[in-house]
Amino acid sequence: MQELEYEVFTDGSLVNKVSIKNIKPCIATEGKVRVLMQLDASLDAILKHMVKRYPPGKVNFVEKKKILTLSIYHRLITLYPSGKVTMNKTLDKEDAVETITKIMETINQVYDDLSTMTQEEEVDLSKIGPMDLYNCLPQSNCEECGETTCLAFAFKILSGDQELKNCLPLQEPWNQKYVKCLGNLLGDSMMQTMGWNGY
Ligand code: SF4
Repeated sequence: MQELEYEVFTDGSLVNKVSIKNIKPCIATEGKVRVLMQLDASLDAILKHMVKRYPPGKVNFVEKKKILTLSIYHRLITLYPSGKVTMNKTLDKEDAVETITKIMETINQVYDDLSTMTQEEEVDLSKIGPMDLYNCLPQSNCEECGETTCLAFAFKILSGDQELKNCLPLQEPWNQKYVKCLGNLLGDSMMQTMGWNGY
């Protein structure tokens, strides 16, 4: 197929354009396509920092090859250091561009943040387990979040299937100590990634 180039941003700090190089039927889902794309910048220095922008259950980073795979938007998206991107379970080229635009936005944000990144934002999520999160929750098992226990909620937060804002008791002023505990554990940036939007 003829390569299609899209100018997604004009003032992105790292990536602005994406080219669709190939579209093939998706072997994972009938009726959908697998799209091969190329971004207009190397992602070599950025991919390991992208890991912290997604819940641990949604992301896999192969350190040796610096390959990042995201399980988001109901599909697998793999980003390579060269700027190559593959995306399966995609409807068509418009759907591919819409989805990669959101990821390009994150890439540019991460690139911007790298120069000002604080120790707090360098939190290593691979060392945080469900019990660490559980210890920062009210532990009342009130079910307001839709889960039967706070521990189940903690597991789902790490898998990316729940958001911190859904624990309504955390919004109460008398539970601020738990929010502070989460802040110390995760850092502000990861709190937002995990769905905390403040009081
Ligand atoms: S809403 Fe919060 S306190 Fe209640 S069960 Fe869910 S996680 Fe626990």
